[in-house]
Amino acid sequence: MGASACARCQGKAVYTRRYSGESLCASCFKDSIVEKTKRTISKYDMLNYGQRVGVAVSGGKDSLSLLQVLHGINRDKRFTLVALTVDEGVEGYREEAVDHAANLVRKLGVEHILVSYKQLYGFTLDEALDWKDERDMSSCSICGVFRRRAIDEAAVRAGVDVIATAHNLDDYAQTFLMNLLHGDADRLAWLDPTILDDDFPLRRVKPFMEIYEEEIALYAYFSAIPFQSVSCPYMHEGLRSEVRDFLNEMEAKHAGMKNVLLRSSLLVASKLSSLEKGFGSIPCSICGKPSSKGTCNVCTMKKLVAEHSKSVLSPSRV
Ligand code: SF4
Ligand code: ZN
Repeated sequence: MGASACARCQGKAVYTRRYSGESLCASCFKDSIVEKTKRTISKYDMLNYGQRVGVAVSGGKDSLSLLQVLHGINRDKRFTLVALTVDEGVEGYREEAVDHAANLVRKLGVEHILVSYKQLYGFTLDEALDWKDERDMSSCSICGVFRRRAIDEAAVRAGVDVIATAHNLDDYAQTFLMNLLHGDADRLAWLDPTILDDDFPLRRVKPFMEIYEEEIALYAYFSAIPFQSVSCPYMHEGLRSEVRDFLNEMEAKHAGMKNVLLRSSLLVASKLSSLEKGFGSIPCSICGKPSSKGTCNVCTMKKLVAEHSKSVLSPSRV
């Protein structure tokens, strides 16, 4: 934050970008976020005229900001927005986020599709994570598999052509490092924003991928978007949380480092994805959805949860 003049309008600056030295007032800062999002969308040809665009809206600051920004740049109704919300079933946490999502969706007059783990899989996230025995997987790795399928399911119900998620620059940099630390070099190719997922026919795009998480939080704040301030109780487990802290520390010491990491990850991803093209998928032997190994990640994870969960789980639909 700084008290100098806005570099664009000479008004009172409220924020200084450490990586570029640019100081901006609240209004010019918000404009800069919208412009950056537009540039990213056009650079990677993310959205096209006439499409139905499913926006994954969890109710957190990133996804609510994404919905607001996309709604703002769609004044000429080039595409149709549909909000997709997943209720994972985390008691005392998720209800508030779902309310924030529903309120903004209503205010903007956007169609809303809501799905829940309970409805799709027969268990809530709380039930799925309550194991009889020790778990050596983080909650987010279990939840992530179900979340992805749930968004896909909501997208199919909504009949959308493309799914936009609010992953930001920090998420990208974290995922890149985590894949390296996990030894998942194959997954680096998935970070290529132009790649199509073999396991799912709809393209996923990330219009905020070139924007720092801190700046999206600031956009939400300056736009007075009410969002959930409490984070998911399972969020601080596992490697991602350590990688997040490490990258924040590096950025504080070397402004712009996360951006450098984003550029490196995109370069590596584009080289790897060009080698990977041509790999097909096969139907999952259990649910029939596309998979790369014969049994999809969701069915594998459901089996694990059923074996270890303390809850009696009812049969699921997907
Ligand atoms: Fe799921 Fe992790 Fe997100 Fe919580 S923080 S909703 S456990 S992915
Ligand atoms: Zn399956």
